[in-house]
Order: sequence, then C-alpha cells, then structure tokens
Amino acid sequence: MEKKSLSDISCKGRRVLMRVDFNVPLDDNGNITNDKRIVEALPSIRTITESGGRLILMSHLGRPKGKVVPELSLAPVAKRLAELLDTQVVMADDCIGTEAMQQALTLQDGDIMLLENLRFHPEEEKNDPEFARELASMGEIYVNDAFGTAHRAHASTEGICHFVQPSVAGRLIEKELKYLGQALDAPERPFVAILGGAKISGKIDVLENLFNKVDTVLIGGAMIFTFFRAQGYAVGKSLVEDDKVELAAHLLQTAREKNITMLLPEDVVAASEFSADARTSTVGVDSIPDDMMGLDIGPQTVDRYSQEILNAKTVVWNGPMGVFEIEAFAHGTIAVAQALADATAKGTISIVGGGDSAAAVMKAGLESGMTHISTGGGASLEFLEGKVLPGIAALND
Ligand code: ADP
Ligand code: MG
Repeated sequence: MEKKSLSDISCKGRRVLMRVDFNVPLDDNGNITNDKRIVEALPSIRTITESGGRLILMSHLGRPKGKVVPELSLAPVAKRLAELLDTQVVMADDCIGTEAMQQALTLQDGDIMLLENLRFHPEEEKNDPEFARELASMGEIYVNDAFGTAHRAHASTEGICHFVQPSVAGRLIEKELKYLGQALDAPERPFVAILGGAKISGKIDVLENLFNKVDTVLIGGAMIFTFFRAQGYAVGKSLVEDDKVELAAHLLQTAREKNITMLLPEDVVAASEFSADARTSTVGVDSIPDDMMGLDIGPQTVDRYSQEILNAKTVVWNGPMGVFEIEAFAHGTIAVAQALADATAKGTISIVGGGDSAAAVMKAGLESGMTHISTGGGASLEFLEGKVLPGIAALND
C-alpha cells in the first residue's frame, strides 16, 4: 500500500511532530560514539524546517524501562544535532506536559525542538491511548521517520496516528518502502535472495515468504549445517539446530516443488574451534572432519554464488555467510558483498537487511556500493517475512 509522505503535505507555519530514531550509542561518560542515526534523519529534518515547519522531534534512547534515567537523557543528542545543523535546538525536559507544550507553542517557522526520551514513560511501549493522545497534542502533523521501531506498536509509532492527522512517512521510511516494498511486490528478475546468519529458526518466516517471490535462494551462515544434516551429511562440530532438521528437509522439498533454485555450499572453511587462532582447512561438504566446525563458505561456493549474483536483476541479502567478526572466517561474507557491489554497478538492485549483514557490508567498506541498506534490523526482517509493520500501517494511505 502506498503511504503518504512529506512530499504530499505542506508544513509551513505548522507544528510538525516527527518520530525519529536517535537511539545512538553512548560511552560510559555519556558521549555519543556514533552519530550516524542523527545524520540519517537530517534529510527529513531539513525538508520540514526549510519549508517553514515548526519541528518537534521525539525519540527513545536506550532502555530506561519507564523511569527517568538521567544518563539516558536526549540532551547530548540535541547538542549534536544543533552542531550538525549549525542552529539552535530547544531541549524539553519531558515529552508531554504543560511545560513542553508551552515551549512547542513558542516555536517559530523553521525552529527545532527535541522532546525528552519517550521511554521515560512506561505508557510509550504499552501503546497507552491517553499517552498517545497527549503526545499527539504537541503537533498538528505527524511524521514517522523511525523505521527501526516501525515493527513495534508503541504510542509514538502507532497509537499517535489515531489522534493527529495527517500522519505521513519521512524520507527514511519512504526510502525503505520504496526499495523493500518494490523488491517484494514487483521485483525485476532474476530475483535472488541470499540468506545466512546464525540460526535457521530466526529465518524460517523469511524463507517461507521469499519462496513465493524469488527465483533463486543462496544459503550461507550456520543454518547450512541444519540443511546438510537433513541431507544426511556429517557436519562435525558445526552448529546444528536438531529440532529444525525436519523443517530444513521440508524447506528443501518446498523449493523443489516451487521450482526455486536453492543452492547450498559446495565447500566450507572449517576450524578446530570457534576462535581466531584455530586450525582451519577448506573442505568439501561431504568431508567435514568430526573434530571440526564449519565457520564460513569456501572459495568454490563463493564463485558459484557470485555468478548467480552477477546474473540477478534484484538481490535481497539477509544474514552473513560466515563468522565475519573473525578475520579467518570473514572471506565468504566479504566476497559476496563484493559480488553484490559489482552487480549493483552494472544495474542490479541490491538490498541489504539485518543488523549484522549491514555491519558486514560496512566492514567490507562497500556501503556506497549497495542500492539500499535497511536501517532497521528487526523491522526489515519482519518486512521480509511479509508482516505488516504497525508503525507503517497506521500512516495515511
Ligand atoms: P542479521 O543480523 O544480518 O539478520 P544474524 O543475526 O541472523 O544476521 O546472524 C549473524 C551472526 O551469524 C553473526 O554474528 C555470525 O558470526 C553468525 N554466523 C554466521 N555463520 C556462522 C557459522 N557458520 N557458525 C556460527 N555462527 C555463524
Ligand atoms: Mg543479528
């Protein structure tokens, strides 16, 4: 469903209440160690202020669990935002109440104000209607630009839309819907999905949903060993989810029935233990030694997967191919990222979803080589599972 965005409304002279994701990492002294999330919100912020909107920003930070935790104040974020924009940002002591409201009412066109941490109130995560109504009263227009929390029905993401109209998508959510939405609804073919990561159990719904859309699935990560077990291979000490072996067999069968090319590795990098200085060797999948575990896909597999990626017109990637955090087992993931970047340069649409997958692409320095890297780990996963995200469903069609 197409959702209204900032392009469809006029902000001039109006109080625009925007939910953003300013959940930035802090060090022990309360300093922001990475301001990426603030920087990413700037396009929406500028669109609103430059068109004369009176901007009121709201976010959560950390897990204060419904209590005021001074260390989790958004004040340092207001300061950083002011530096980035070279302008003043008014900080409110609370996200609701008469004082915050008074401050909001004195805003002039183009002014910016940041409300205090939403999760200082337990009602936020409970999606309490009265709290949502109070939040909504701060603004005359609601914008959601926090994709990372769109899969949660919270007061500031879902409840609020029942009390303030219009409710529209900001630039970040608009972009997520454009790329993720288009890939799933009307992909250019061949459409290839690359799935990896730690557990098959976390990816079943993704697999089942993608089976209705893709031409090819490339499997990597630890989940390959549950599939191998289902195929009768000995997997040594590799991670296997015993209770999912039957399901893995069923998924292989479904792929055959649906005429989907589902590829599993031909070779893996195995190690004696899960550590950087473990003894390693590259082995065929039918000869994983009993005392070793598979921690990455092997070079032959990388070649085969790269071919599929280079022939694809659309690729969705979720989950690293190996334990990319350790140099010795990062090669498969980095090589796949490289193939994806090469394909993208030739016109393939590449979409990366999932927190660790995104981190792997950054580690490979290939961030700008992808068409789209989703900003929400859990939210993009639920999107790929075909679920309706409450924070998006609540926006105006
Ligand atoms: P994402 O966050 O992109 O959805 P996941 O959270 O599902 O990805 O999985 C990422 C994790 O999977 C990484 O921490 C990685 O080390 C782990 N992993 C990948 N391959 C293996 C393997 N063969 N054995 C154990 N862990 C693995
Ligand atoms: Mg993860």
